[in-house]
Amino acid sequence: MAQAGFNPFHMAQAQFDKVADLLDLDEGTRELLRNPIREYHFSIPVKMDDGTTKVFRGFRVQHNDARGPGKGGIRFHPQETVDTVKALATWMTWKCAVVDIPLGGSKGGVVCNPHNLSMREQESICRGWVRQVAKNVGPINDVPAPDVMTNPQHMLWMLDEFETIQGAKYPGFITGKPVGMGGSLGRTEATGYGVIYTLREALKEHNVDIAKTTAACQGFGNVSQYAIQLYTQLGGKVIAVSCWDEPDQKSYTFRKTSGITFEELIGITDKFGTIDKEKAKTMGYEILPGEDWISQDVDILIPAALENQVRGDNVTKISPRVKFVAEGANGPTTPEADKVLEERGIFVIPDFLANAGGVTCSYFEQVQCNMNYFWTKEEVLEKLDTKMTVAFKAVSELAKKKNLYMRDAAYVISIQRVARACKDRGWV
Ligand code: NAD
Repeated sequence: MAQAGFNPFHMAQAQFDKVADLLDLDEGTRELLRNPIREYHFSIPVKMDDGTTKVFRGFRVQHNDARGPGKGGIRFHPQETVDTVKALATWMTWKCAVVDIPLGGSKGGVVCNPHNLSMREQESICRGWVRQVAKNVGPINDVPAPDVMTNPQHMLWMLDEFETIQGAKYPGFITGKPVGMGGSLGRTEATGYGVIYTLREALKEHNVDIAKTTAACQGFGNVSQYAIQLYTQLGGKVIAVSCWDEPDQKSYTFRKTSGITFEELIGITDKFGTIDKEKAKTMGYEILPGEDWISQDVDILIPAALENQVRGDNVTKISPRVKFVAEGANGPTTPEADKVLEERGIFVIPDFLANAGGVTCSYFEQVQCNMNYFWTKEEVLEKLDTKMTVAFKAVSELAKKKNLYMRDAAYVISIQRVARACKDRGWV
């Protein structure tokens, strides 16, 4: 979902161009990698509960599949745009490459608001989406997954439609399935925990005791909740969380300087993610404007809500105490703000590294489906920790060796891996 005046795809291309220049990438490879290989735009007609037919706009973008089948979620959002989907597909390519899993980058979306749709209407959209792209996706060419406002139930309807069309069972067609129906244990925690595995390593490298740190988070959804859970388990203290309020149509920051816990806040959050302000007040929270998460006097910021949140106009509000930013969301920092973070010497764990835990666990789900044998949650999380830690160390070592900003170092590793695969295949 793009906000007015902000084009995430232009941002993804600007980030790529910076490192392509640094690597002196040849023209052909540069042209191939700065655009998606394939884009599908289609209409999904749905018979609504009131008897009318409504047509929803759907997309699937395949950015690059040189390293393996495309992988990427499907978003349902009223302000979804193809440029957002293109940016996210591009970031998926870099994300899979930086954690070195044998997958490429894709993303999909439907312009719709599931909050205003019945379950039957949502099921029709899911099945319609699959019917439009069934020939172009699948376990060996492009594997979808849940993303913003889609969940395991949506994935199961999509799987069922795909298997009906194919006339066979294809559990590897889609990931994020319910546990017991081909889903992996640990997937719910994976992205948030992955953010904290990388943050833990960053703090270790800087000789900072996590138990003596404080953090502020933007978002209280899947990524943020589990990031908060693991960070507090490791001894860190989250003092502020910013979150969208559906009835008020604006965001608020919930602050408690003595520290919050995941369990406490989840108990007063409704199914649309809105935190009950009155209950929060009785539990000792101050209710501040939504943007205030960024100006808190903390050591760590975790933007884990949506893109375009740390910008030129608010980056100066970041407290001088902040030394680490762990990007849980995709594209939370604009290039303008990124420059300021770099100049200030803030250690940024870039989005496509920090939040790669989700796709890594999706890859584990595919592996388990292929074996038809499922690991315990502990096994999944241990393998995830290893993957994330190895990826973090490779990026951080390169950053130190070549004196690069962390985002640029992560891009160097990813672009080199993908460019090498394209070259070895004889594409460029
Ligand atoms: P989610 O829908 O579960 O949660 C989003 C959160 O952001 C909600 O708490 C919402 O209240 C909050 N929010 C929305 N607008 C806000 C605003 N203006 N100010 C403050 N808070 C606001 O989504 P999620 O799955 O947690 O994803 C969050 C981000 O992480 C997205 O950028 C997503 O693309 C990215 N991401 C998610 C995963 C995953 O596995 N879930 C993986 C990789 C990246």
